[in-house]
Amino acid sequence: MTKKIPLYIQIIIGLIAGIVWAVLSGYLGWSGFTASWIAPFGRIFINLLQLIAVPLVFFSIIGGIIRLGNPKNLGKLGGKTMGLYVLTTLFSISLGLLIVNVFKPGNGFEENARVENRINYELWLQSEGMTPMDGRWMMNNPAYNEILDEVAQRRGYEDIEAVRARLDVARKAAERGPLTFLEEVVPSNLFSAMGDNRNMLQIIFFAIFFGVSVLFITDHKKVIIVDVMDAIADAFIKMVDLVMRGAPLFVFALMAGLVSDMAGDDPARVFDLFAGLTWYSLSVLGGLLIMAFVVYPGLMALLVKNMTFREFLRGISPAQMLAFSTSSSAATLPVTLECVEENLKVDKKVTSFVLPIGATINMDGTSLYQAVAVVFLAQMHLVELSFAQQLTIVMTTTLASIGAAAIPGAGIVMLMVVLTSVGLNPAWIAIILPVDRILDMVRTMVNVTGDATISVVVGKTVNLNDVEPS
Ligand code: ASP
Repeated sequence: MTKKIPLYIQIIIGLIAGIVWAVLSGYLGWSGFTASWIAPFGRIFINLLQLIAVPLVFFSIIGGIIRLGNPKNLGKLGGKTMGLYVLTTLFSISLGLLIVNVFKPGNGFEENARVENRINYELWLQSEGMTPMDGRWMMNNPAYNEILDEVAQRRGYEDIEAVRARLDVARKAAERGPLTFLEEVVPSNLFSAMGDNRNMLQIIFFAIFFGVSVLFITDHKKVIIVDVMDAIADAFIKMVDLVMRGAPLFVFALMAGLVSDMAGDDPARVFDLFAGLTWYSLSVLGGLLIMAFVVYPGLMALLVKNMTFREFLRGISPAQMLAFSTSSSAATLPVTLECVEENLKVDKKVTSFVLPIGATINMDGTSLYQAVAVVFLAQMHLVELSFAQQLTIVMTTTLASIGAAAIPGAGIVMLMVVLTSVGLNPAWIAIILPVDRILDMVRTMVNVTGDATISVVVGKTVNLNDVEPS
């Protein structure tokens, strides 16, 4: 009998084959064929995964809480999880700031060009009639709409309205009051919350509220709900399983469409995208690699006794490959759950609570990237950011990464908010847009790895009282 090739290897093969196909089809003039007949399967794949993700978050959090058995366990789990999530996010932002301040990738541009950039920035500040730290201008700035269209065009979105809706998140964020964030977490209608993948925080809120309430109802009724949840969970596992059987082919289609989009009929264009942005891209990638291969293994070595990082990587790699090819932690979530439960043997009680929340709010890769991007853009415009401004960046980046939806491109949209918070021009995102998709792929992989790491740490260290709900 031939030995079965592990799934993550199959996915890597699909990934490489997709890139090779895109390059070849560019040279042979088949880009039209690729766009019409291959790329749609990539989008179908993402749709399928997202289709599973929303109800999965919902049911897995409810099931997870009920399985915990009592509110005390929830307190233990919740406290440790949130503590670790915030800590790793703050760490990744600090790492990003350190790298960008030491290597100064934005200083690599010609002095004259930077002076010109600075003049343009001053003129822009004047024309907006604002002093730095003022973000309200964004609301009625006609240039803002131009940026929206440019973003839509450059990223090749057909559905401009969808992009506009997404960017509106950034616009709304600029007019937030101090408690708007809280207000938005509490939905007034469960079904409209479920109708939009960007409302994951609202769905999580409802699921936690419902799950906790179930802990207080009578035992014989609780048992019924546990049984129903278990049955539903099994059905989900099957769904993920079925979709993942096609993963290598789907990933092939996804990559073929993506790279062919970037390259058009001239594959050499992919390299042009990087011109001038090489040091910036390397700073982001360097930081992301340090997170993935130094920080997370360090954290595990420190806190987890019975699992090596190598074992961890082997177990989690299908999810990593999927995060890389879909650029979406939400779409990857069903597979992350399966990997951590099946391959790494972390208790379902823990994963079903820790991972869905992590996919939504814990984005170490995104926050590191945002920190590097803001300071880089300031550097290339000859703007010195003060220590206080860098502290503001730490704060807004933490919130922006929590607020960013777990979908492709969410990080760069929220970057507009971070830029605005320190008085910089949000239109500057256009400068780094050309390389954003590639960086998005890697930062999403780090986002997912971070969630998985914390779920292993929590799973192996939190001592839950073994109270069965019956
Ligand atoms: N694509 C990322 C994710 O889903 C978010 C981002 O754009 O940084 O995790």
